Amino acid sequence: MSLQPTKYSPLPLGSIRPLGWLARQLRIQADGISGHLDEFWPDVQESAWFGGQAEGWERAPYWLDGLIPLAYTLDDPALKAKAQRYVGYILDHQDEDGWLGPGVPAGYDLWAVLLIGKVLVQYHQAAGDERALRALEANLRNLDRQIDLHPLFNWGSFRWFEGLIAIYYLYERSGEDWLLELAVKLHAQGFHWAEFFRRWPFTRATPQFRWNYMSHVVNNAMAVKAQGLWWRLSGAEADYRAAYDIYEKLDRYHGMVTGMFTGDECLAGKRPTQGSELCAVVEYAYSLEWLISIYGDPAFADRLEQVIFNALPATFSPDMWAHQYDQQVNQVECNLRPRPWVANGPESNLFGVEPNYGCCTANLSQGWPKFAAHLWMRSADGGLAAAAYAPSSVEVEIDGAPVRVTLETEYPFREELRFSVALPEGETRRFPLWLRIPAWAGGARLEIGGEALTPSAGQFYRLERAWQGQSRFSLRLPMRPELAPGFNGAAALRRGPLVFALAPGEDWRRINAENPQRALPHADWEVYPTTPWNYALLLNPAGLENQVRFIERPLGDVPFSPQGAPLEARVMGRRLPGWGMDGGNAADVPAGPQRSPEPLEELRLIPYGCTNLRITEFPLLAD
Ligand SMILES: [Zn+2]
Repeated sequence: MSLQPTKYSPLPLGSIRPLGWLARQLRIQADGISGHLDEFWPDVQESAWFGGQAEGWERAPYWLDGLIPLAYTLDDPALKAKAQRYVGYILDHQDEDGWLGPGVPAGYDLWAVLLIGKVLVQYHQAAGDERALRALEANLRNLDRQIDLHPLFNWGSFRWFEGLIAIYYLYERSGEDWLLELAVKLHAQGFHWAEFFRRWPFTRATPQFRWNYMSHVVNNAMAVKAQGLWWRLSGAEADYRAAYDIYEKLDRYHGMVTGMFTGDECLAGKRPTQGSELCAVVEYAYSLEWLISIYGDPAFADRLEQVIFNALPATFSPDMWAHQYDQQVNQVECNLRPRPWVANGPESNLFGVEPNYGCCTANLSQGWPKFAAHLWMRSADGGLAAAAYAPSSVEVEIDGAPVRVTLETEYPFREELRFSVALPEGETRRFPLWLRIPAWAGGARLEIGGEALTPSAGQFYRLERAWQGQSRFSLRLPMRPELAPGFNGAAALRRGPLVFALAPGEDWRRINAENPQRALPHADWEVYPTTPWNYALLLNPAGLENQVRFIERPLGDVPFSPQGAPLEARVMGRRLPGWGMDGGNAADVPAGPQRSPEPLEELRLIPYGCTNLRITEFPLLAD
């Protein structure tokens, strides 16, 4: 047995540094809930993983899974010290038989073992601590013995493939066969996602109150990468293709314009008032990062940006202290009024510390830092691939020379990307840069050394040069407005990787203030609209560019906020007096073009990721 090579390989954590707005966003996150969760939230502060009495299963490892890449990507000494202290405690308390963390081996759902493996891989890469690798090996040997007697069940069974990440990491360093044999056992005992999706029954919203593991939105978001990871070992064409089957079916039957699919918390269909759980957002992004690596397919990277630039920031308060469990594409108020969600309670769309349930509180930290850590990857032909775009710099060694590539940009709010490639004085290295040209970027223009190239859209474009000294080049990715189809004939406005939404004025009302664990800044909030939202747009897909006016605003300290939106779209619309509320939701819009006696108004739409309340899927006007 052996492993199929990946098309692009993720770089060791810490190789990529965020710049510009991305650095500011990671700093907001570090100063918000992610950097402070252990100071006030009992399930981490007093976790059984750290010797306390509170939850001792997934919550502390979930938090570390995001804290470690945040700390080492930002290179923040205080956060790195936190990561070292907590991981150090876990390593110091490993049982002699290899078991890590709390819990009784028999009757313990082994999902937490798969999760801590991913944590230790990142920690080993970032901190270079060999103890983490030895602890991981002993823990996997223990897992190997455990599942002989107590096969995977429940979460461990549905998330078996998450274990492959640590197993492959160790195998690529030791080459020991028992690791791949362990992978085969996990596969045999785990849920067969590819087989299930072949005759997949979930082509509509899950019936209310029918919670189940198979349509559980986070399980599905994780499972998007299952077949790609497994193909590396099986080498079977059917496994390779099955990842596309899962990805496409989730999209077709549950997909939203944000790139996410719904699940509140089981798959919930195409209605824009269904929720998408935050855990699913960050897990889907992480799955896509693996699919980019394994397949080298730029479509997965287009999708990753769509999820990260839209769905991720929208579900946090701008200061990243409060988050929602479920976000809605059409979300006109956040409170406890009834919603027709599959299984989640009405508190799911509050902004707070632990709305509905604490999994997202623990798991939310991985979204931005893992995105930053996967912007650049190594290509199999000795070069670098720009998988996704955000201001960043990357340092790698190529044929013994340190190479630094820097990307200065205000993308995704602007079209222009400026790269520089720097080698030490007197050194020359020939290698390719693989530049992603998104599928929406027809007419892309690459200017290098007085030459203008026009790479076609929907590919990784190979730019090979003998690089020496400092070279600069620029790439323009033209972003044009387009209408994406929505539920019941509604439509949403997109431009490049961004989705645009109407953001009504907001009234944030603090709740649970008497609870000492909700002392500011980590409080719970309801949000109410202060201005109308029930508009239909006068937009025609033909000649759309003449109907939408884009206005650039300065990219400030908090770009993902209604006030800080770096880009606006001005469109025309009329209020629809008959479009009202259904419980706490904006009611469904009747199918077909709408008529309204109300006056035509110019409306300001902003990027979805900048909004807290929003209408994204609009009815269209007949005239
Ligand atoms: Zn969650």
